[in-house]
Amino acid sequence: MAVKLLLEKAHVEGIRTYDVYRREGGYRAVEKALKSMSPEAIVEEVKKSGLRGRGGAGFPTGMKWSFIAKPEGVPRHLVCNADESEPGTFKDRYLMEFIPHLLIEGLIISSFALGSNATYIYIRGEYAWIPDILEQAIAEAKANGWLGKNILGTGFDCEIYVQRGAGAYICGEETALIESLEGKRGNPRIKPPFPAVKGVWDRPTVVNNVETLAAVVPIINLTGEEYAKIGVGRSTGTKLISACGNINKPGVYEIDMTISVEEFIYSDEYCGGIANGKRLKACIPGGSSVPILPANLLFKTAKGETRYMNYESLSDGGFATGSMMGSGGFIVLDEDQCVVKHTYTLARFYRHESCGQCSPCREGTGWMEKILKNIDTGKGKMSDIDLLWDIQRKIEGNTICPLGDAAAWPVAAAIRHFRDEFEWHVLNPEESQVRNFGLAHY
Ligand code: NAD
Ligand code: SF4
Repeated sequence: MAVKLLLEKAHVEGIRTYDVYRREGGYRAVEKALKSMSPEAIVEEVKKSGLRGRGGAGFPTGMKWSFIAKPEGVPRHLVCNADESEPGTFKDRYLMEFIPHLLIEGLIISSFALGSNATYIYIRGEYAWIPDILEQAIAEAKANGWLGKNILGTGFDCEIYVQRGAGAYICGEETALIESLEGKRGNPRIKPPFPAVKGVWDRPTVVNNVETLAAVVPIINLTGEEYAKIGVGRSTGTKLISACGNINKPGVYEIDMTISVEEFIYSDEYCGGIANGKRLKACIPGGSSVPILPANLLFKTAKGETRYMNYESLSDGGFATGSMMGSGGFIVLDEDQCVVKHTYTLARFYRHESCGQCSPCREGTGWMEKILKNIDTGKGKMSDIDLLWDIQRKIEGNTICPLGDAAAWPVAAAIRHFRDEFEWHVLNPEESQVRNFGLAHY
């Protein structure tokens, strides 16, 4: 039976309300942290837990917290990145919608640890119904003395504000988010300086994902050491996975990162197998930006070892034969899916979401989209495949923010693993309009 630290109570009736959340043991971690721990001790506990950022990059949270600058007299801020927009990723939405007080509790502890008296939740515009849920939870927390002035008599003041985005994927990038929070167009900034030194209104700022901040609650309740015993290696604790695509049971699952990819796809506890009795073709295990893996590299690494649902195992083999844990957006493709069309769809998305600041991303994403559209619609040339490869290589690593890489990697992985499918489209333009390449090359 899987360990559940975040979603254990998500199905308790009424858990969205303060009374039920509190009755079920909620706000114990705030009490413990604020009454018996110093901010430094909380940071230490998070370091010991091995918690890594759950937004996608997997950066060690405790280390990020310890980087925050503390210039005399300058306010510091915690910002919760709830701009979950990575295609295939909807686990933060689930958490905020069903157990909002867990996030608020994590935010209070984290704000105390970082010295943030004004903390912000920046939420994607499309999650239009969630801000009301969060604001209700914040109001309840405040009415019960967990927010506001002199919380629990500690002298610590904290307010949490919810800021809605306007529906731009780029505003999930932390510096674009900061620009947007300041009321400007969401253009990413060049890093360094990192937000930990110069963030919102040039003040030291920590930006963490929703799930990361919620995970601070079980870390405090259990202790960092106990939390680190769950999982494996540097993949400690639990991870929320949003599973979608051609599976029998799409949904949000909490895993402890010791289960294999095969078990995750076929077990009834999770995805329940491929829908309609079809065969598995490929999977994007960590949100649309990470490399697609063909079925033959999904359950075993290139070295023949079992592939597990964790940071190390999913990336084993690098980008040549591996992928990434990313944001936990697990997208499954069955034998009927066309990898060329799929890659074209993603290219269209990244072109649309590029902020246009840097030429490799602005021009390259549009160029890739056009070429992929041509190949998909039977108008492609064989040389287009090499051209696509060339363009993606010139984008990767040459842009201000990771959106450039995110646009390049899916194209690179699709060509690397499914080149024969691209070639088939070019050689069979008419046939490719009426049927898919399927699994013929396995
Ligand atoms: P990153 O590796 O650049 O940074 C990780 C974090 O560590 C940042 O907060 C950064 O400020 C901090 N950091 C790194 N080095 C630091 C230093 N020396 N000093 C202080 N702070 C430092 O990655 P990122 O741009 O935060 O995230 C990219 C990832 O986001 C991608 O891998 C992708 O998976 C993911 N993503 C997620 C979504 C989503 O909806 N969840 C959407 C798009 C992309
Ligand atoms: Fe904008 Fe793309 Fe450059 Fe990021 S990589 S700053 S999205 S143009």
